[in-house]
Amino acid sequence: KKYGVNELRKMYLEFFESKGHLAMKSFSLVPHNDNSLLLINAGMAPLKPYFTGQEIPPRKRVTTCQKCIRTGDIENVGKTDRHGTFFEMLGNFSFGDYFKHEAIAWSWEFLTEVVGLDADRLYPSVYLEDDEAFAIWRDEVGIAPERIFKFGKEDNFWEHGAGPCGPCSEIYYDRGEKYGCGKPGCTVGCDCDRYMEVWNNVFTQFENDGHNNYTTLKQKNIDTGMGLERLAVIVQDVGSIFDVDTIRSLRDKICEVAKKTYKENEQDDISIRLITDHIRSATFMISDGIMPSNEGRGYVLRRIIRRAARHGRLLGIEGKFLAELSKTVIEGSKDGYPELEEKKDFIYNVIIQEEGKFNKTIDQGLAILADLEESMKEKGVKELDGQDAFKLYDTYGFPLDLTKEILEEKGYTVNEEAFQTCMNEQKEKARSARKTTNYMGADVTVYESIDPSVTSTFVGYEAQECDSKI
Ligand code: ATP
Ligand code: MG
Ligand code: MG
Ligand code: MG
Repeated sequence: KKYGVNELRKMYLEFFESKGHLAMKSFSLVPHNDNSLLLINAGMAPLKPYFTGQEIPPRKRVTTCQKCIRTGDIENVGKTDRHGTFFEMLGNFSFGDYFKHEAIAWSWEFLTEVVGLDADRLYPSVYLEDDEAFAIWRDEVGIAPERIFKFGKEDNFWEHGAGPCGPCSEIYYDRGEKYGCGKPGCTVGCDCDRYMEVWNNVFTQFENDGHNNYTTLKQKNIDTGMGLERLAVIVQDVGSIFDVDTIRSLRDKICEVAKKTYKENEQDDISIRLITDHIRSATFMISDGIMPSNEGRGYVLRRIIRRAARHGRLLGIEGKFLAELSKTVIEGSKDGYPELEEKKDFIYNVIIQEEGKFNKTIDQGLAILADLEESMKEKGVKELDGQDAFKLYDTYGFPLDLTKEILEEKGYTVNEEAFQTCMNEQKEKARSARKTTNYMGADVTVYESIDPSVTSTFVGYEAQECDSKI
C-alpha cells in the first residue's frame, strides 16, 4: 500500500510504542549544551546525555521523528535522488536496555510486515568485525549469507564527533535497474541511487572523548535512524525524495511560480529540487530561532536562502518568491510540527527580509561575476582573486561558498587564502577603529553616547577598504 509521509511517521512511532517505547516530540534543530555540533544532524544527537548516562532518560526505550539538517550533503541536493539538507529521521533508541537482537528483529518486522516491503529487495550490511550482527541476520532473521554485506569503518562505524559511537548495520533497498549507474560491479554500497540506504542501526558500545580515544560504555545502547522521505520513496515507488506526496506539492508550487514543467530540462530540475529542499531547511531553521548572519548557524541559513534565490534566478523567476514557498512548507508540515504554524508570520518576515537584502545586489553581483569569468577566460587564469571574491561578499552579499560553487560549475576556483586575508584585514580595521579612534583625546565610546549620529560615521571605518580589481 502506498502510505503517505504523515501516515508512515505515525506507523513507525506507533510500532515502537507497541514495543514499549516512549514517543517523544522532535527536539529543536539547535543543539542544547553541545558545542560539538552546529545543527542537529541525527535522531540520536539531542539524546546524547541519555546515552552517556549524564542524564536519566524518561524511559529506557524512546522513539522519535527528529528534524535534521546536514549541510555536508548540500552538494548532493538536487543531484541524487536521496539527499536533502533537511530531512526527518525516524529512530528507536535503547539506553542500556535491549540490544542487537531486538533492534535487528524489529527493523525487519517493521519493514516487511508493517510496511509490507518485498523482503527479496532488502539487503542488510554489517561492520566487518561484527560477527554477532552477521549471525543474527543469518540465523535469526534467516537472510542468506551472500545477501549480507560486510563493510569497513568508513560506512559501518557510526560516530558524530565526541560522544557515544559503535558498529552499525544498515538496510538497503534495491529500487531496480532503472535507478542504477549501470557500471560493472554496481551493487549494495554503490554510490548511485539503485541500492538505497534506508535504515541505519547503530550498536552504541563505545565512547569517543573527541580525540579518538575509545572506551567501552558501561551501558550498551541502540541508536537507529531511518530517513522518512527515503522510506516514502520506496513505499510510494517514486523517483526521488522530491516526488513523495508532501514534498511533491512544494515542488509543484515552485514549478508554478517559475512557469516550468518538471522533467523537461535536467538543469532546471536540479534548480527546482534544490529550491524545494532549501526552503524546507530555511523554514524549519527559522522556526527554531536561527537568524541569518555571517557566522555559524546563521551563516548556514544565509547561505541556503541565497543559494535558493540564485537558483530562482536561474529558473527565470524575478523578484521575491521564497516566503510564498515557505507557506507551502508550513501547510504541508504543520501537523507534525505545530511550531511552524505558531511562528509563521515571523518566518515569512525573516525570509522576506533576507531575500530582499540579497535581491538588491544579486543581479549586479551575478553580472560582475560573469565579467570576472570572462576576463579569467581571456587571460587563461583558473583562479579568482581573493579580493574579487571578497568584494562580492562584502558589497554584493555573496557568501564565499556561493561564489565558489558558481565558479566551480565553469571549472574555476577561488583564492580562499587571499579572501581570508581581506576578511581579517577588514575585521582588524573595524576593531582598531572601535578601540583607538578618539576625538580630541576623548574615547570614542564616550563620544558615541553623546551623539548617536557620530556612531554611524564611525561605522564607515568598518566598511571594507580592501583593494579590488573590480
Ligand atoms: P548516505 O550514505 O545515503 O548518504 P548516510 O549513511 O550518510 O546515508 P546515516 O548517517 O546512516 O546516513 O543516517 C541514517 C539514515 O538517515 C539514512 O539511512 C537515510 O535513510 C537517512 N538520511 C541520511 N542522510 C540523509 C539526507 N541527506 N537526506 C535524507 N535522508 C537522509
Ligand atoms: Mg551521507
Ligand atoms: Mg551511508
Ligand atoms: Mg548510514
